[in-house]
Amino acid sequence: MPSGYWGKILHVDLTEGKTWVEEPDEAFYRKNMGGRAFIAHYLLSEVPAGIDAFDPANRLIFAAGPITGTPVPGAGRHSVGAKSPLNNGFGESESGGFWGAELKKAGWDAIVISGKASRPTYLWINDQTVELRDGSHLWGRLTDEVEERIREDHGDKWIRVAQCGIAGENLVRFACVVNDLNEVAGRTGLGAVMGSKNLKAIAVRGKRMVPLADNTAHKETAKWVSSTMDENHYNFHYFGTGAAMTGKEIEGHLIVHNFRDGQWGDVERVHKVDAKTIAETYRVKMDGCYACSVRCKKRVKIDSVGVRPEFGGPEYETLGAIATNLEVDDLVQICKANQWLNLTGMDAISFGATLAWATECYELGLLTNEDTGGVELKWGDGQLLNEMVMKVARREKPLGDLLAEGSLRAARKIGRGTEQYSVHIKGVEIAMHDPRAMDRMRTNYPVTPTGGDHTGAAHHRTSNRNTVGVCQFLQYSEEQIVALLNGATGWDTTVAEIEEQSSRGLTMARLFNLREGIGRKDDVFPQRIHEPIRKGPLSNHVLTREQVAQETEEYYRFHGWDRQEGIPLAETLDHHGLWDYAGFIRDRVRRGAGELPFAKAGAGVGERVEE
Ligand code: SF4
Repeated sequence: MPSGYWGKILHVDLTEGKTWVEEPDEAFYRKNMGGRAFIAHYLLSEVPAGIDAFDPANRLIFAAGPITGTPVPGAGRHSVGAKSPLNNGFGESESGGFWGAELKKAGWDAIVISGKASRPTYLWINDQTVELRDGSHLWGRLTDEVEERIREDHGDKWIRVAQCGIAGENLVRFACVVNDLNEVAGRTGLGAVMGSKNLKAIAVRGKRMVPLADNTAHKETAKWVSSTMDENHYNFHYFGTGAAMTGKEIEGHLIVHNFRDGQWGDVERVHKVDAKTIAETYRVKMDGCYACSVRCKKRVKIDSVGVRPEFGGPEYETLGAIATNLEVDDLVQICKANQWLNLTGMDAISFGATLAWATECYELGLLTNEDTGGVELKWGDGQLLNEMVMKVARREKPLGDLLAEGSLRAARKIGRGTEQYSVHIKGVEIAMHDPRAMDRMRTNYPVTPTGGDHTGAAHHRTSNRNTVGVCQFLQYSEEQIVALLNGATGWDTTVAEIEEQSSRGLTMARLFNLREGIGRKDDVFPQRIHEPIRKGPLSNHVLTREQVAQETEEYYRFHGWDRQEGIPLAETLDHHGLWDYAGFIRDRVRRGAGELPFAKAGAGVGERVEE
């Protein structure tokens, strides 16, 4: 087994209360590497087609990468995946902090969880000792109490905890998996899958060093990060995310009023909620993930409303979703809501976007007081924002329960034309980057396997990092990533090989979605994104469906999928060795007549042939 991995994947059957260890060979690791491909492998090979995301047969997968847990900035990342309860499609999300590195230090490359426990349970991993424990005393408790109780129970304050929150217990479809109280695998509702399995938490303590084949690249890269901090990571290091919001206001693509308006129309007011103002007011320090000198994580404290630093501070996505989109300019209420989203375990993006959908529908008279139980939804109400966090996390009827379904399902339940106001892709609310203004997002959202997900990694840069376990914020070149990967594993990979593997992983995720009935018809933007932004300098610009369709087809071609339906071509399945997963479309797969950008005769992995 190469260094960088342990060659051990932990399997847990909650129904039977059993665990066992799989020890794949090196070829498995070289082919799949980590993150998305691990997740796709287990979803395609173990999850029966067509089941509901809350069926015990769904799998919940926690996957590290070969760089996760190694001593270099950005190596604190892990991926979580399952069939998503938002759309019954491919669900995946990445998280930082310390939990993923701890899992690696405990000697595991991944955990694959199946079944459903008969009572609340938590998984305790102490290096190589693994136990399923009664979690009844943790059920119904907020994330801070859960972490504290587990640490107390085991008498070890260094235990790292990932958990589903009360939102996950209550099957809120955008519940996230929270680790270290302030980091989340936020998108696609993975916390709800965890809750559906009666699995409250996974507590990990690892005491080994992840073995490296050669630590030269790690040492040089860590030195490069610290010696070039101001050139490469200035904003992240000094302010964290959310320092450039006034720029978005000026350029007219701030996320406002459910993606309807691109501005608040007052730069100073936007500045009141950005990371620079947070730094001057409620921020008490900056903090970092495992081994990271960039330390981009803001910590805020506001005694008057009980906001504590251990829950972090609002990141850009949160500021976009619950501040600018809802027009809330009260930083105290925003920081408080950020804390309660982490205490209950909800994805800030889907929560804010779903509340924005409801607020617009209420404004238009499409959602009535009967639907809301008398709650008068309006823009700019920070107190209401905080009340809604608890209503949704507890699924309080009628409004909390409705919004806990996510905007698309809620709209379909209500009808009355409300679906056109759900700003989602594949049922997953679009993150806080407007694709009408940002080319990278325009070409990412429609085709990323996880829907409206800015980290969904339709592009190689993000996908590569999610595969090997490195934070996207680190401004590493692809060559630096390869050097770290080779230093960890002792392999001789190249940028071309990682890109091949990233393309392979994306093709596997595509196969999973196709198998579940998600395909070409779903690779589209919702109506709102084809309307001009109502205010500001971009109000004359219309993103046409034709442009998106053309770019989508180009993306299919790039990965070796057919241009009409985005079904992987026979040559692509041959090239990546994916026929075992593709039996369900065997009769729909066609030959590409020379369309492939790779896999020309004789080309192997690492020998990418550009057209
Ligand atoms: S750059 Fe920020 S988010 Fe990324 S690993 Fe470092 S501290 Fe964590």
